[in-house]
Amino acid sequence: MLRHCYFCGQSLAQQGEFERQRAPGRVAFDLERGRAWTICGRCHGWNLWSLEDRQWALPMLERGASRARLLYQTENVALLDAEGLELVRVGKTELPEEAWWRYGRELRSRRIRYQSRVSKVGVATYAALSCIGSNVGLAGITGDFHLDDDLYANVTRWRRFGNTAWRGRAPCPACGSVLIKLFFYKSKFLILLSAEGSQLAIGIPCARCDPWDFDKVHRLDGPVAERVLRRALAYQNVEGASWAEIHAAVRTIEAAGSAQQLIQQLAAERRSLSGLRGARSLALEISVNENAERRQLAREGAQIETAWRQADELAAIIDGEL
Ligand SMILES: [Zn+2]
Ligand SMILES: [Zn+2]
Repeated sequence: MLRHCYFCGQSLAQQGEFERQRAPGRVAFDLERGRAWTICGRCHGWNLWSLEDRQWALPMLERGASRARLLYQTENVALLDAEGLELVRVGKTELPEEAWWRYGRELRSRRIRYQSRVSKVGVATYAALSCIGSNVGLAGITGDFHLDDDLYANVTRWRRFGNTAWRGRAPCPACGSVLIKLFFYKSKFLILLSAEGSQLAIGIPCARCDPWDFDKVHRLDGPVAERVLRRALAYQNVEGASWAEIHAAVRTIEAAGSAQQLIQQLAAERRSLSGLRGARSLALEISVNENAERRQLAREGAQIETAWRQADELAAIIDGEL
């Protein structure tokens, strides 16, 4: 087997051991021409396997690909997720595209990080500091901490995200008061609003208007709304998710019809983030991220397609010489 990348010298054996890496290890294969490559996670070089290795591995790769999830496909290559290992299969596949599984993996590794011993120690320190802080009158700088089960989650949130989810200017249409900052700990009051087409809109309830109704919100639209909502949901779902919870969330999306339809449905219900629990909250986070994921996958797909063309030409030469 290949030990090091031909192009940059990076060890290929280590890749795949760390779930935290974005692309832990990518293997590309072409069943028809009998070729397989390891794509280096550092330099993205395509390392062609020896004929011997290909012989025994190709049938296994094809079996793995038949059970994998399709993330994206271009004219000639399909990017698949085979339980954490990314496969690039040359040729079209009949699998339906499931971009949200990629984000599911992000939620899964977030759960692993959340549960890791190292982050627990760090958080215990911050929890102690926060406790001292509240005794000497520093309460408030970290949001609404309470010494309950949520403490760990709250301290993790504070460490990872800081205080502020958004800064800008958003007037209330009713009273004219201008919101210039949204604190994360208040982001649970965010409401999804109906918007044109595939656009996103969110509202932050006006604190001045009394009595309050749904028209009295500081409104954010488009890419800004998407960015704030993604951050707010990552903050809410700081504990990540198990595979079972991710499956439940995906079923919620499928029941709604699509990621986009789920967002529209929740907007029609005028849900605030705090009103979403468990699967629906995760389903929304997955759905909101799907657009961004698709944009990224399209870029990656184009790059993989180009890299494959070059690697294939090179492989034809090498195989001819062998
Ligand atoms: Zn490399
Ligand atoms: Zn107002």
